[in-house]
Amino acid sequence: MLELEVKVGDLRVPERLLLGPGPNGIEPRVLQAMAMPTVGHLDPAFIEIMNETSALLRYVFQTKNELTIPVSGTGSAGMDCVLSNLIEEGDEVVVAVCGLFGERMVDIAERCGARVELARAPWGRMVEPDEVRKALSRLKRPKLIALVHAETSTGVMQPIEEISSICKEVGALLVVDCVTSLSGAPVLVDEWGVDAAYSGTQKCLSCPPGLSPVTLNERARKVIHERRSKPKSWYLDLTMVERYWGGERFYHHTAPVNMIYGLREALRIVAEEGLEQRWRRHALNAKAFIAGCEAMGLEIFAQEGYRLPSLITVKVPQGVDELSVRKYLLSEFNVEIGGGLGELKGKIWRFGFMGYNSKRKNVELALAALASALSALGRPTSASEAIAAADEVYREARA
Ligand code: PLP
Repeated sequence: MLELEVKVGDLRVPERLLLGPGPNGIEPRVLQAMAMPTVGHLDPAFIEIMNETSALLRYVFQTKNELTIPVSGTGSAGMDCVLSNLIEEGDEVVVAVCGLFGERMVDIAERCGARVELARAPWGRMVEPDEVRKALSRLKRPKLIALVHAETSTGVMQPIEEISSICKEVGALLVVDCVTSLSGAPVLVDEWGVDAAYSGTQKCLSCPPGLSPVTLNERARKVIHERRSKPKSWYLDLTMVERYWGGERFYHHTAPVNMIYGLREALRIVAEEGLEQRWRRHALNAKAFIAGCEAMGLEIFAQEGYRLPSLITVKVPQGVDELSVRKYLLSEFNVEIGGGLGELKGKIWRFGFMGYNSKRKNVELALAALASALSALGRPTSASEAIAAADEVYREARA
């Protein structure tokens, strides 16, 4: 057992290398920012920090939307917030589902009293726009289409633009979950015509879990202001939360001050690197990891051409125990990765290279550690071939 741990008082925390679906690697500067003195949440200094955080979020979401704020709560709070503000009892909604997080959207939409039609794809594939058309044809007045851009349960990246055109044709709002894509892959809210989107802090933004950045355009904002009834959640009612974040500073709840210091720092780091460079970095490291896996004779689970750059799903080979590999990586290398969820339990591993942790040394360490685990668990595997394949990808990229 590796003995890397951090102590504060009698609190002992192991120092892991987080290469799973999230939380993923946290930027040291973010943790430092979070350790700054807490100020009052209506302190003029904090109000300035709130404004800067919103401005930086607009850059990361690539939007001019005024209503762009971090909701207090994790990614699921963002999902709950966006859907429960936009949907009312009896509304007709289409959800594209090809994994666990699409299913979670369906659950929330149903709790809001919507009539939900599904546009489905098997787990591991993206939802075909035609499936969305078919689901729409079963409805009279679809209000909204919701989909997951980066399906963390399967490693699939859903193309948005064609579905956005369909939304325009039928006059429906487009809601996008970009929890695992924001800053790790292009998310172009305005250019793609996304009406509302939400994300989480613990993935490619490299900040601990705890906030959910959300953005709504004027069209979506009008919908929440013209509701027939108040949303059931007081805490997530955006018409109130926006008065707190906007000019009025009307007290709604106490913002998690130090989390917002952390998010602001994380967003500054994204801006320093530049989004395009960050997207390229994620894509290159994913490509190298996939090449290494394939050199070991492993198969990638997610549909080719639609793979996430931030999270790669690897099929567990026949005769290998999925959990034993994860336990080995944790105990021998201090590396955390994810297993499959739902119907993929025991069938895939999920490797995340997100934000701070999307780097060559982590890719090659993960390949070597995986080869070591497979060899120790009865499937002799060469790490050197995997590393050579990854090296080749980096060499080509430099050429
Ligand atoms: N949506 C997606 C695509 C996710 O991957 C996750 C979490 O992994 C969530 C929503 C929910 O976020 P959280 O676990 O932060 O509540």
